[in-house]
Amino acid sequence: MARYTGPVCRLCRREGTKLFLKGDRCTSGKCALDRRATAPGQHGASNKKVREYGMQLREKQKTRRYYGVLERQFVNYFEEADRKEGMTGENLICLLERRLDNVVYRMGFAASHKEARQLVLHGHFTVDGKKVNIPSFIVKAGNVVAVKDSSKESPKFKALAESAAAQTAPKWLEVNAENMTAKVVALPEREDVGFDFNEQLIVELYSK
Ligand code: SF4
Repeated sequence: MARYTGPVCRLCRREGTKLFLKGDRCTSGKCALDRRATAPGQHGASNKKVREYGMQLREKQKTRRYYGVLERQFVNYFEEADRKEGMTGENLICLLERRLDNVVYRMGFAASHKEARQLVLHGHFTVDGKKVNIPSFIVKAGNVVAVKDSSKESPKFKALAESAAAQTAPKWLEVNAENMTAKVVALPEREDVGFDFNEQLIVELYSK
């Protein structure tokens, strides 16, 4: 399935929650969900009863859209999470958190997952000193993610560093905004992810 290129605020309205897909606009008074909290479409405002399958599907779509992952990739993540020891749902969320584009977002160097993905694709980041331009690259504990030396001097990255310095990174990342680096000091745990997922519903969906 191709990547969605339509208006992203529709996705938040469909899922009934803020997915923070538009950067600063999401926390301003211009957020479409704040202004119109109904699902998009002609029957969006109707009070349809959501069945069990519908709830599971919506939770999967919400999670997939939040991280900007395609359906096939998401299934692959689920299968990998299922093979690991521990709770599949928690493994899934922790795996998604370790994507390089998400790390860039959590570092505070991008206002949205989409922007983070673009910055990685354009080769602005290194992992342990090597350029990595694959947004789905999975970081490991001990890796150091950094802005590439030649990008550090650009006004854009100087501004991003200032914005990153004003933000609080999750405890599994040790961010040095001045040096434009982040060390993965531990693997993320479920409670480190400050977004309201019900991963159990996703597990139930894929376990049918
Ligand atoms: Fe979602 Fe952001 Fe659009 Fe609000 S502004 S509806 S949070 S993408």
